[in-house]
Amino acid sequence: MKTMLFVSSVVVLFSACKSGTGSDASQKQAQVYLDSYNADYQKILYADNLAQWELNTRIVKGDTTSQVLADEADKALASYTGSKANIDSAKKYLAIKDELTPLQVRQFESILFNAGNNPAIAGDVVERRIKANNQQTSNLYGFKYMLDGKAVTTGDLDEILQQSTDLTQRLKAWEASKEVGKTLKVGLDSLQHLRNASVTPLGYKDYFDYNAKEYGMGEDEMLKLTRQFISEVWPLYRELHTWARYELAAKYKQSVPDYIPAHWLPNRWGQEWSQLADVKGLNIDSILKTKGAEWMAHESEKFYQSIGFGALPASFWQNSSLYPVPADSPFSKNNHASAWHLDNDKDIRSLQSIVPNTDYWSTVLHEYGHIYYYISYSIPQVPIILRTGANRGYHEAFGSMMGLASLQKPFLEGLGLIPKGLQTNDTLKLLNEALNYIVHIPWGSGVMTEFEYALYAKNIPEGQYNKTWWDLVKRYQGIVPPTERGEQYCDAATKTHINDDAAQYYDYSIANVLLFQFHKYIADTILHQDPHATNYWGNKGVGTFLQNVMKTGASVDWREHLKNTINSEMSAKPMVDYFEPLMGYLKKINAGRKYTLADKPTFD
Ligand SMILES: [Zn+2]
Repeated sequence: MKTMLFVSSVVVLFSACKSGTGSDASQKQAQVYLDSYNADYQKILYADNLAQWELNTRIVKGDTTSQVLADEADKALASYTGSKANIDSAKKYLAIKDELTPLQVRQFESILFNAGNNPAIAGDVVERRIKANNQQTSNLYGFKYMLDGKAVTTGDLDEILQQSTDLTQRLKAWEASKEVGKTLKVGLDSLQHLRNASVTPLGYKDYFDYNAKEYGMGEDEMLKLTRQFISEVWPLYRELHTWARYELAAKYKQSVPDYIPAHWLPNRWGQEWSQLADVKGLNIDSILKTKGAEWMAHESEKFYQSIGFGALPASFWQNSSLYPVPADSPFSKNNHASAWHLDNDKDIRSLQSIVPNTDYWSTVLHEYGHIYYYISYSIPQVPIILRTGANRGYHEAFGSMMGLASLQKPFLEGLGLIPKGLQTNDTLKLLNEALNYIVHIPWGSGVMTEFEYALYAKNIPEGQYNKTWWDLVKRYQGIVPPTERGEQYCDAATKTHINDDAAQYYDYSIANVLLFQFHKYIADTILHQDPHATNYWGNKGVGTFLQNVMKTGASVDWREHLKNTINSEMSAKPMVDYFEPLMGYLKKINAGRKYTLADKPTFD
């Protein structure tokens, strides 16, 4: 309870020194409003989540009943959170924030942020934006991809980019995957303006600024942070870039290019290259098959109990949907694994389709990470509206950290899932991981973030979308288009998030950076184990640490919280340290090779 006690003592001091200035009365009045907001918000949120749960767990072909109900519940939540009355109250209290407690101020900021996506005062702009957004999503997902005159799926195109060594075929597949951008350009142009116009009435500078504000940061601060990540990983990225150019040129029997042609890479955007070092990780498929899906669901709970968390509530087991629906079932369900907090209180569930294999092993532990995070902050000290991660990156960081830890050798050995002393190629495994985590930073923190900054904060005209995009791709990823990409294309819009999850792609970078910060802290300070070979199982110190980090939810400033828990600023250094053994290995291989990326990244 350290952090919570710290908060309340601040509150006491604060109100003591303000007594006599009328702040007691203001705080009391504010609290009446907040109590009623939290209660109403919880009721409407719960109804919406129940409708969404139904929609995702019982899909009956041709029956649109649950879709209609979910749409209505969505609208009810939007009109409550965006209502003029709530916006006016939040603004009124934020104008006297010096008289309120920090916890009250955080709630008002959160109320205003929730309103920002659908403020009634923006008038028909919000409705037009929602419509444009849905239209853009259906244009993206309804697009018919064609290859050699035949309809193909994006999965077919990905398969070619992952498997084929025929550069002509690869070029065709890559180009086919980018055709959809042309159909999304007009929509992106209108969304650029509508998104900005829907948040400016609440005082945000633009849509990029709005999203950064949820971190309590201005857009310049956010850009400074994402650029810091790029600078931190740059030396290792430069080695990986050099290694990949030579590796790929040999593979395709071409001369070594200065920059990597986009169609040479195993991913449509070059966002992760782990296929280039395709080592089979620690494969535990066959033993998991003998254990079964239910064993995995319960063993994962046992893991969290072993480090000191409680058992999952009976309602979790009754209400969750954990296993695939039988083939003869009259309904189907969403197969994407997820963790749900339906009422921001006791109703927690998970939607999965657990099958006994290695991927699902880490997925179950990942989803339970979210579940135990929900449980940890569902306490009276954390108001309903602040029951979420310390920032948008935290939740995913913990889920992914559990996924990473659950596949390390000592963890698996301890459970008897692999034999003791099993030999594996550790350098290749590390290279494979770096081609995922490190390669993602110049893409996520660089190209995606800086493009959306240009789009919303600098308001670049539609006639410069593609040039802006490819300048960034070359600068940060060292990748170039295989052929001239004029402004008739809109290659940025081929990425889902640009269309329907705008201006928050850096969340993925933040989650990955945090993951390695927390994992390093646990390995060094609590377990005293090599971060590449840890075993969290049974260690109560790990559990206590996690509970301390999780139980505050969003009720405290995440930067102070990071300082209080791991005594650090946000930094990609632990991620770089984790991959340190790889630097020497790559430098040896790259000796005598030409490097084409500068020593340091350049920013505008
Ligand atoms: Zn997750």
